[in-house]
Amino acid sequence: MRGSRLVIPSSMRAEVLQKLHEGHQGIVKCRERAKNSVWWPGLSREIEDIVKTCPSCLKHRIERPEPLMPTDFPDRPWQKLGSDLFYWKGVNYLLVIDYFSRYIEIAKLSSTTSEAIVTHLKSMFARHGIPETIISDNGPQYASSTFQDFAKDYGFNHSTSSPH
Ligand SMILES: [Zn+2]
Repeated sequence: MRGSRLVIPSSMRAEVLQKLHEGHQGIVKCRERAKNSVWWPGLSREIEDIVKTCPSCLKHRIERPEPLMPTDFPDRPWQKLGSDLFYWKGVNYLLVIDYFSRYIEIAKLSSTTSEAIVTHLKSMFARHGIPETIISDNGPQYASSTFQDFAKDYGFNHSTSSPH
């Protein structure tokens, strides 16, 4: 024994490792399980290895995409905005939504360049103020240096945080 944990002889370690990983729990859960039951030198490391190389876990991880990250609810209107483009009946539009109030702004686009998006956002900011954060996808309009410069000039954070 080591404290309240059984010390497992080397000949049985592979089998016990499999048991610890039964149910295909992650590293943390498997270590927790071991902490209450068994021990041998290097166990923690071996748990990490078996979880990281488990074929079944690997397959599962690939098939299931990362969940969307929920974002913190803002404190006031027009603090955090989401921005995206959409296409409807032959016309492109810019959509901006305020996370606090769900208020939306829509602008009809004659072009989908970064410059066009920036022009329309400036117009919205002139009416409602400059937000702290804009969240968008990684579309070319938002990933461009034009947009990065705009964010820097106007002093808002630009986040493309989900998917992580
Ligand atoms: Zn597994």
